[in-house]
Amino acid sequence: MAELITVNGRSYTWPRAPVVVVCIDGSEPAYMEQAVAGGHMPYLAKALERGADLRADCVVPTFTNPNNLSIVTGVPPRVHGICGNFFLDPKTGEEVMMNDPKFLRSSTIFKAFHDAGARVAIITAKDKLRKLLGHGLDYASGRAVCFSSEKANQTTLADNGVANAQAMVGLAIPDVYSAALSEFIFVAGVKLMRSMRPDLMYLSTTDYIQHKHAPGTPVANDFYAMLDRYWAELDGLGALLALTADHGMNAKHDAAGRPDVIYLQDLFDNLLGTGTTRVILPITDPYVAHHGALGSFATVYLPQGADRGPLIERVSQQPGIQKVYDRRDGCAAFELPEERLGDLIVISAQSTVLGTSAGQHDLSQLTEPLRSHGGVTEQRVPLIVTRPVDVPAGHRLRNFDVFDIALNHVH
Ligand SMILES: [Zn+2]
Repeated sequence: MAELITVNGRSYTWPRAPVVVVCIDGSEPAYMEQAVAGGHMPYLAKALERGADLRADCVVPTFTNPNNLSIVTGVPPRVHGICGNFFLDPKTGEEVMMNDPKFLRSSTIFKAFHDAGARVAIITAKDKLRKLLGHGLDYASGRAVCFSSEKANQTTLADNGVANAQAMVGLAIPDVYSAALSEFIFVAGVKLMRSMRPDLMYLSTTDYIQHKHAPGTPVANDFYAMLDRYWAELDGLGALLALTADHGMNAKHDAAGRPDVIYLQDLFDNLLGTGTTRVILPITDPYVAHHGALGSFATVYLPQGADRGPLIERVSQQPGIQKVYDRRDGCAAFELPEERLGDLIVISAQSTVLGTSAGQHDLSQLTEPLRSHGGVTEQRVPLIVTRPVDVPAGHRLRNFDVFDIALNHVH
């Protein structure tokens, strides 16, 4: 068994006890701060007496897939290639989902450890992430398990390392828009910790609750109390827990509760003519009921030869826009792969979201005032370890340092 595993230019020490990394989708730091303060997370409150209660910056765009892939590879999207849920394939001119492993350019930390003999278990809420997170694992080894709550009734030994995950968990498959979809992950995690005792476990939830409920509200506190109970069980089984988030979450509505939207495609159509530009919203995915495909990050393809300077200046002046970058500057600032972004990168302010055209967004399914993410204002996330750690000084901590901290810096 190797002492040190190197992947994507970073080295990780072999864990002495099981390490469980939890990515709590959309967990703005205030969720756990308020749940702990309100007495809803007794396990975490106790663990923090000697553990590390850190904050880190996630990847911009502050979306689920770019951040989950950064966490499990230890590197930013410029290296691993996954910079959104959707992108415009320059070869075809089509908008395509980026959840196919063919778009992933880096090995995961799981694969590197698994190849060296480790047992690994990965459980996600939605199936959209599963193939990316489990890419390269050899399920025939009997040392790898990877499935989603959403499709736990469709697992096979060959594709997931477990023949019937739902039977193993013993619960009904929850609705894709529910807190139960996340709870299912932890029930499964505890069962696997008992039966398989993986060296590395990764549990990645869904932000359904965070999209609808602000920190400190009863439903949010109940959700975090649920997480706390399972974390206590995992800790009791001897696991070290490292908790982070893919991104934060902010209210994105006006005083009347209506989404505060800038329709960027309409704006560019007015400036340059209909059909000349293409606005891409990388938040778009098949599960839009909780955010209406509205987030705080967009990328824009301009007609050839368009003069970017005056456009950047004009769009920057729009109230609710935080900053407009050209491709090169934006990709340098956020460590993104230039060939997968448009000519401009547009970031909206804390309470504002970006849409394409007014007619393209079905807001009828938004049952609560909009909360969403995607911009720089959702970049701050928790990074909590249940044991004392020594954090390298003078280092900008990122959520994708979580495996480094948990494996290399725990006392
Ligand atoms: Zn997310």
